[in-house]
Amino acid sequence: MRNILIAIGISILYSCGSSQNSSNTGSSSSSKAKEDKLDVAYYAETITSKELKDYLYTFAGDDFEGRDTGEPGQKKAAEFLKEQYQKMNIPSPMGGDNYYQEIPESYFRGGIKSSENVLAYIKGSEKPDEVVVLSAHYDHVGVDSKGNIYNGADDDGSGTVSLLEIAEAFVKAVENGQEPKRSILFLHVTGEEKGLYGSKYYTENPVFSLENTVANLNIDMIGRIDSEHDSDDKRNYIYLIGSDRLSTELHNLSEEVNAKYTKLNLDYTFNAKDDPNRFYYRSDHYNFAKHNIPIIFYFNGVHEDYHKPTDTPDKIEYDLMAKRAKLVFHTAWEIANRENRLVVDGIGKE
Ligand SMILES: [Zn+2]
Repeated sequence: MRNILIAIGISILYSCGSSQNSSNTGSSSSSKAKEDKLDVAYYAETITSKELKDYLYTFAGDDFEGRDTGEPGQKKAAEFLKEQYQKMNIPSPMGGDNYYQEIPESYFRGGIKSSENVLAYIKGSEKPDEVVVLSAHYDHVGVDSKGNIYNGADDDGSGTVSLLEIAEAFVKAVENGQEPKRSILFLHVTGEEKGLYGSKYYTENPVFSLENTVANLNIDMIGRIDSEHDSDDKRNYIYLIGSDRLSTELHNLSEEVNAKYTKLNLDYTFNAKDDPNRFYYRSDHYNFAKHNIPIIFYFNGVHEDYHKPTDTPDKIEYDLMAKRAKLVFHTAWEIANRENRLVVDGIGKE
């Protein structure tokens, strides 16, 4: 999550909109086990608090030096993500072992070096050109002048490792012959903390055209509990922002899968149009929403360790985080497998 003091600063519009459609093969095992279709809940159960914890203790460890955009720690984090997708046999939409969308130094302001988004995808079986984008930023704010490392376990290690677990759930389904009908893009964006650069660059240089981008589900901070919910009867929650703004169908679908599977309290406090925090504009989904692509932003709210060196993996609520990641998975599964793509009926209602 981007700090609001930076978020309300100036941004410069670039437009260099070359886009390329991918036609790589995404799956290799569609032939087997077609007859044994399993319920989506089976795949959701592969998202576990233990695996999330294992991933996060590495990803938000000191070795990654706070993942500052363009710096060695961020590069190391990118390499880690690429390795996980390769281990899961999930290909890059760019082909071969190129999982990076390079963003040149000239794109950034303020002396930031070149950086990269990390992309992996699962090819849809029926409508491969239509894509559901699952995003999380993997950069954070680095190390301060005293040498304190900002591990960013919640911000946004939590979203990053959740994408890995959601990807694993999808790939298990693929291995059992249950490819999603539409493609799923796992988009790990860089430069969020510096100004939503990675998502902006991706939407100006999309790998799948924006016209065929059905929805963006963005996860930024889902591992903690804010002060509003810090009691046993309130902790089973997640804030949803933006779900009803562009597509009523998306909002309803999200409510339905939650009621059926995850049963979290979906808190819409920050979805209010006059919310002074302006969270709708403060993470990467906004770069999709501004192109009229329906989005949902998943968020636990701010807490005392937000943008401090104390945002560490030992403070994460792993069971709750797993439940929240499952909600994103179920929502993505439903969007990807619906007969028709989401109806966008909210344009101009802002
Ligand atoms: Zn942040």
